[in-house]
Amino acid sequence: MEPEIIIIGSGIGGLCAGSILAKYGKKVLICESHTIAGGAAHSFVRQGFHFDSGPSFYCGLGHQNPSRNPLKEVLDLIEEDIEVIPYDPLGYYHFPEHTFPVYCNLKDYQKEIAKITPQGAKELEKFYARLLELYDCLKDICLLKLRADWQLIPNLILNYAPSLLKTLPQLKIINSSVGRVMDQYITDPWVRRLIDLECFLLSGLKAYGTIAPEIAFMLGQRNQRNVEYPVGGSGAIVETLVRGFKKFGGELRLGTHVEKILVKSGKVKGVKLRNGETIQAKIVISNATVWDTYQQLLNPEDLPPSYRKNAIETPAIESFMHLHLGIKADGLENLAGHHVVVHQTEKDLTEAGNTCMISIPSVWDKKLAPNGHHVIHGYTLEPYSNWQKDQGYKEKKKERSQSLYKALEKIIPDLRARITLELIGTPLTHARYLRRYQGTYGPAIAAEQGMFPSCHTPISGLYRVGDSTLPGIGVPAVAASGILCANKLL
Ligand SMILES: Cc1cc2nc3c(=O)[nH]c(=O)nc-3n(C[C@H](O)[C@H](O)[C@H](O)COP(=O)(O)OP(=O)(O)OC[C@H]3O[C@@H](n4cnc5c(N)ncnc54)[C@H](O)[C@@H]3O)c2cc1C
Repeated sequence: MEPEIIIIGSGIGGLCAGSILAKYGKKVLICESHTIAGGAAHSFVRQGFHFDSGPSFYCGLGHQNPSRNPLKEVLDLIEEDIEVIPYDPLGYYHFPEHTFPVYCNLKDYQKEIAKITPQGAKELEKFYARLLELYDCLKDICLLKLRADWQLIPNLILNYAPSLLKTLPQLKIINSSVGRVMDQYITDPWVRRLIDLECFLLSGLKAYGTIAPEIAFMLGQRNQRNVEYPVGGSGAIVETLVRGFKKFGGELRLGTHVEKILVKSGKVKGVKLRNGETIQAKIVISNATVWDTYQQLLNPEDLPPSYRKNAIETPAIESFMHLHLGIKADGLENLAGHHVVVHQTEKDLTEAGNTCMISIPSVWDKKLAPNGHHVIHGYTLEPYSNWQKDQGYKEKKKERSQSLYKALEKIIPDLRARITLELIGTPLTHARYLRRYQGTYGPAIAAEQGMFPSCHTPISGLYRVGDSTLPGIGVPAVAASGILCANKLL
């Protein structure tokens, strides 16, 4: 039977939009190119090790505290639940000069910072207080009631007049960068670098590039001790969304690559698959990136030339080197699950290989690795343009993974002797398995210099969701993009 709506891609954005639309009775078909659903959030298994391909920092998916995570709002709506394991500290930051725990509670965290810089900790307290004020206003707004068009404003006024009044004094910072807020309160250079790091971990950009509400939300949620890991890894979140989607009649076709979005006289007509099959629908939602949607899936003549040019010229954050390891776990009983290692102070945090993110989720969920083993995912930024599949590829892979090895050896000094499985991924691997333009983390749209576009496109019946639409990158954000688009259509 012909679907009413086709969604291209089963990333978290596509799955959230699809689940809501299916819940409200729409006939939805999701076409996913990969044989595993979830996009950047998919998990894969090798030799009994369950690896996350991307995200591993999650907040507000469980029941212990009230949550405003848009993904949790979708799960509640489709009556699905995820089992989570709360943990604290949320990880360790390893700077060349200091290693310290990152406690969820901001007062406990400030005490750790005070051991390094007492004056900096005092400044940080004021900075956090300012951002928590902002969080306090925004946290009452339930995204499920919002939609991505002109009715947003009357909608907000109708549902959230008291919260909006509380927000008035915040208007100054609601649109500003974290950098601007930081300038008001922080003079300590080390603390400024710490704030840059926290922004980079969240948005891929430093403090001047990150919008204040994004960090306000992260701090607010973290301060409520809402940090947790899903039992079964990221893949469990994807499975839960897929289950909810199918429960309401949604159809998911895996291994189904969409070659083209079919457009006639400015209106969407359906999609053409790589295998030559054509599927008709009046509404198509693309969960592919802005570059893939406008350059690959549409023909140049489908879009107004200046619109197309601006869209595909959106700057992109770089891609990643990945290290997925299975290791022997004996003697590692007190290992923490998350680490961020900054190798060199004199180098920029965003320089390839300098900041390494490490996640060892079998610390929380032992079933992710065979008995007596741990599963590790390390990643660091790496430009896509440096890579091609040539003779030197294998050697270069080894060489470029060394910064991740060095970072891991800070945490597990005898790491290399413990390895039972090693998978090194390059930006080419990332682009291939995540089906993303140049393996990018997402658009580099800096605060105060532009906004992520909404779900609308110039083509009637064509919409977009995911991390190149409002509100931006990250699992909660792309879930929000799915909500906004679904609500618009409903
Ligand atoms: C290494 C890494 C670590 C991260 N860590 C975190 C974290 O800890 N916490 C957090 O909140 N966020 C994190 N993120 C960000 C977060 O994972 C992403 O922002 C989010 O998952 C992107 O979701 P999306 O819906 O935009 O689409 P994607 O995940 O990009 O999914 C798009 C889907 O569309 C499919 N597709 C594309 N083209 C086609 C086509 N032509 N036909 C059919 N299907 C197609 C793809 O195969 C893919 O499944 C991380 C990302 C990475 C890469």
